[in-house]
Amino acid sequence: MQDFPLRVTRLVDHAEREHGDGEIVSAWSDGSVTRTNWRNIANDARRMAQALEAWGIKPGDRVATLAMNHSHHLTSWYGAIGMGGVLHTINPRLFEDQLEYIANHAEDRVLIYDHAFAALVERMKPKWTTIEHYVCFDPPEGWSGDVSFVDWLAPYDGDYDWVEGDERDPCGLCYTSGTTGNPKGVLYEHRSTMLHTLAEASPDIFNLSKRAVVLPIVPMFHANAWGVPWAAPMVGCKLVLSADYRPDKMCRLFREERVTHSAGVPTIWLTMIEHILRTGDELGDLKQVTIGGSAAPRAMIHWFLERGIEVGHAWGMTETSPIGTCGSRPLGWDEYSLDEKVDHIALQGRPPFGVELRAVDDDGNVLPRDGISSGRLQARGPWVIKRYFKEEKDATEDGQWFDTGDVAAIHPDGTVQITDRSKDVIKSGGEWISSIELENAAVGCPGIAEAAAIGIPHPKWDERPLLVCVRVSGSDVCAVKVREHLTGHVAKWWLPDAVEFVDELPHTATGKLSKKTLREQFRDYRFA
Ligand code: ADP
Repeated sequence: MQDFPLRVTRLVDHAEREHGDGEIVSAWSDGSVTRTNWRNIANDARRMAQALEAWGIKPGDRVATLAMNHSHHLTSWYGAIGMGGVLHTINPRLFEDQLEYIANHAEDRVLIYDHAFAALVERMKPKWTTIEHYVCFDPPEGWSGDVSFVDWLAPYDGDYDWVEGDERDPCGLCYTSGTTGNPKGVLYEHRSTMLHTLAEASPDIFNLSKRAVVLPIVPMFHANAWGVPWAAPMVGCKLVLSADYRPDKMCRLFREERVTHSAGVPTIWLTMIEHILRTGDELGDLKQVTIGGSAAPRAMIHWFLERGIEVGHAWGMTETSPIGTCGSRPLGWDEYSLDEKVDHIALQGRPPFGVELRAVDDDGNVLPRDGISSGRLQARGPWVIKRYFKEEKDATEDGQWFDTGDVAAIHPDGTVQITDRSKDVIKSGGEWISSIELENAAVGCPGIAEAAAIGIPHPKWDERPLLVCVRVSGSDVCAVKVREHLTGHVAKWWLPDAVEFVDELPHTATGKLSKKTLREQFRDYRFA
């Protein structure tokens, strides 16, 4: 067979050749909507590669973006990688000391940013020691700041051949949000990205095809929008990108662009569902959602299924590119009752070919796949991290298995059940209480919009659970009602010792519950 290095540029070449008219829709933060296609994206990416070379950027150099989802951002991915560069997507919601650390650690040479982050960029410029060139994706008319993306590319004609190389060359860099210590860089390869993309589009994962219209509500800086901007050119589906996640704007896009597939973290869907219930807004032709990044609550899965929308519940992390598992539908699915379907999808699904998983106990013994024994979840495969960027030691214990930091039980059919993050489990009397299951049960209680369970020190039991809840607007649900509801759903000894209500729960830069911040907020809390 032929030598055909699996390089990411093959994707955009394929899309240009086979899906040249395939549409990419961008909803910008100023409310405007623009349309382009893969032919234009590919040509602009080649022009950008020329522009980078004219600045002396070399293969292997890091080209950073600080931007939401739109077609220029998409172009920049293929442009940076096409000239052999490494695309570093920075999360603009990180704290400034983290932003300083990661751009310097990555030794970014170029930064392309959204005008929305211009003030942030100006503040950071003196602290970023390696960035030589700044470009603004979308400056307003009359802007006198850094060069605009369009003007930067203007002198170039797109007569350019992608830099060729080994499929094991790096192509992308993402930093984890670093819940402890400094953020760590995960360096993706062309090969790992391509293999991940092949898996991603398959029916049991994102189920993408030429007939799909996909709108990821995952920022392109969050584990590459879970790979959707790689999978879309592969299958030629219409890609809808939005820089604005307000639910009314999103619903309008869903309807007007006839979106069939979408993906996002539970917090995003929570906001969408709340908006829809309040206003009667609609999701148009939506057929399938992928929920991941944190555990999808049962009530949310139920809400979608009841409306005839399939739910894929995905587990993964930046270190796994990010797909680790997804909730595939088993044989006989159509005969399942609604409740059985919800039960099935509430688990985190099965790994696709390319990911191998196991649960081990604290001594490293592999646990049986009995759905009961839970331990540290470990992963290996061609798109699972081996070593963090610039670290000297492997991130794996034995050169193979990467410890995910999650606690899980694996069922006999391979379905994974994440019970917690190892740092979030509540240790009570030597046993573990799953904060995820408590939260999941709590949001099933009428009147509860969001809930977080954390362990509070306890003189007798070591730790006991505290449940912190946000009420649905207008609800007056009380702690007694929440505990009553939980009684039917979790073991008695798991019941929280107290239920507190807050207006808002803290979230991380990627929209997940921030247990770390919550634990800090409740550091001095003691049960009455
Ligand atoms: P961070 O949250 O630190 O930015 P990631 O986005 O890589 O980093 O998050 C990965 C983690 O998110 C996983 O290790 C796991 O704890 C959690 N996670 C992801 N998907 C799920 C899911 N479907 N159910 C439960 N937890 C999940």
